[in-house]
Amino acid sequence: MSVGARPQVSAWRREGDLLVSPALERLGLAAGFTTRARGSLGGAAASPDAAARARSELARTLGFDDVVRVKQVHGDRVVKADAPFAVWPEADGLWTDRVGVLLGVTAADCVPILVADRAGRIGVAHAGWEGTSRSVARRLVAAMRESGAETRHMVAAIGPSIGPCCYTIGPDRVALIRGRLGPLADDPIRETPEGAVFDLWSANAAQLRAEGVAEIEVAGTCTRSSGLDLWSYRARDRMGLGLGLGFIGRRARDGGSAPVAPTK
Ligand SMILES: [Zn+2]
Repeated sequence: MSVGARPQVSAWRREGDLLVSPALERLGLAAGFTTRARGSLGGAAASPDAAARARSELARTLGFDDVVRVKQVHGDRVVKADAPFAVWPEADGLWTDRVGVLLGVTAADCVPILVADRAGRIGVAHAGWEGTSRSVARRLVAAMRESGAETRHMVAAIGPSIGPCCYTIGPDRVALIRGRLGPLADDPIRETPEGAVFDLWSANAAQLRAEGVAEIEVAGTCTRSSGLDLWSYRARDRMGLGLGLGFIGRRARDGGSAPVAPTK
């Protein structure tokens, strides 16, 4: 079943106004990213009520009660999230081993990273350049491993975000990222005449691989230039401001840690 540790580029499947991860769908999970047709799922662009309504509608569509969220701060903190928080903790990664819980992070160019093992644990992280440089994906996998997850049975999906086609950074940031990531920044940062490209997909894939994650799927979809109907902060003049939601959940009817039949 495992395809090994090399990242596999696999376009996420369009399903109505969602993009879904084929690799995580094969585990019986609801896992994907919302398009602009679903509205803005958070942030200041929509009223808090409208965004909350959009999240509830999404959750119900997928067979859940609501989306469990945290206050994203471009950091590396990971929290266990078994039910919606009354007060959202500051964190950029969250995970659970419960069925019937839909986890979500908002993004509009930052990377949504979805992770699952084969024993019922699921997690999600939000990683822009800052979270990527702070290794939030590694922290998420480590938190799940500390609870007993085996990384050789883990599947991770790197969702739509700003791609290497559209993302360069300045020398100060290059130095900061290299300082934080060391050799894991070597491949993802490429100097070009236009500046240094920071490939967030390969940077996060390298981190997941370093943690021993067995199967890594990369959607390879750029929020700014893919032509798909996605929120992109860098295309806000053209598309408006809004946030998509990267989500992952195991529906209650799937029966918790019971083996899940492939849906293929
Ligand atoms: Zn692009």
